[in-house]
Amino acid sequence: MSSALTRVAYAYDRLRAYPPEVAGRIATAMGSALQVRGEEPMLLELGVGTGRIALPLIARGYRYIALDVNPAMLEVLRQKAAGVMRKVRLLQADARAIPLPEESVHGVIVVHLWHLLPDWPKALAEALRVLKPGGVLLEGWDQVEAEPECRLQERWRALVEAEGVEVERGRHRRRLAEVEEALKRLGLKPKTRQVVAWREERTLREALEALQDRLYSFTQAVPEEVHAQVMPRLWAWAEGEFGGLDQSFRVEKSFYLRTSRLG
Ligand code: SAM
Repeated sequence: MSSALTRVAYAYDRLRAYPPEVAGRIATAMGSALQVRGEEPMLLELGVGTGRIALPLIARGYRYIALDVNPAMLEVLRQKAAGVMRKVRLLQADARAIPLPEESVHGVIVVHLWHLLPDWPKALAEALRVLKPGGVLLEGWDQVEAEPECRLQERWRALVEAEGVEVERGRHRRRLAEVEEALKRLGLKPKTRQVVAWREERTLREALEALQDRLYSFTQAVPEEVHAQVMPRLWAWAEGEFGGLDQSFRVEKSFYLRTSRLG
């Protein structure tokens, strides 16, 4: 596996990590939504990444199938889960063609994946196919508010668009609404709630590095040569605008969970 892929997977892991108490609250909310009696629940996560949702659930003893298309993400997860791997199956596969029998899992977890799949209805159909009757689809997402970071991202977008490349933003939110509509059309009753809200600190340098490493999906469609051209300009702009990159700013975060139970 290329070391560049693994480096990005580790960078992704650092940027997205939850504080332990937040990870615990999310695991508790997901675990209690399962309502399985008499059997050991089996969970499947689509697009598991490096396991920030998976690991606390695995540590609590759930049987877990961790599916991702990217082997570098699974490799980081494998290393992090080394002590608690007994009940985990790592599955390198595409969420649009899940290599599992129908009605085989009690819960399917999907966090920050739908917006990456133009043909998301295939993955949704697959998620519902592998769920047992009475099983639950658990969709989660983060909401992040940070004014300086927004300004950096908007400046990055302006610089990219000045090079003639359009940047699409807001796809994640739109996709969540589309999936909700699809679930309702299927007769399901998705219920959404905020599970936890918290604050973090981040430096401007860290925010710039996240852009530089293209850790956000809205940066990933921009051609490498354009990205490489605009990043030095963005660093220079940020130095001038904020008068130094090591000051930290506050990031307000929250996690939402949407549950849909099969009849
Ligand atoms: N759910 C994790 C989290 O919240 O930390 C990871 C989210 S990350 C934005 C999206 C993940 O989905 C990546 O690990 C990526 O490799 C994976 N992915 C993208 N397309 C996929 C596909 N077609 N099938 C399975 N996984 C996919």
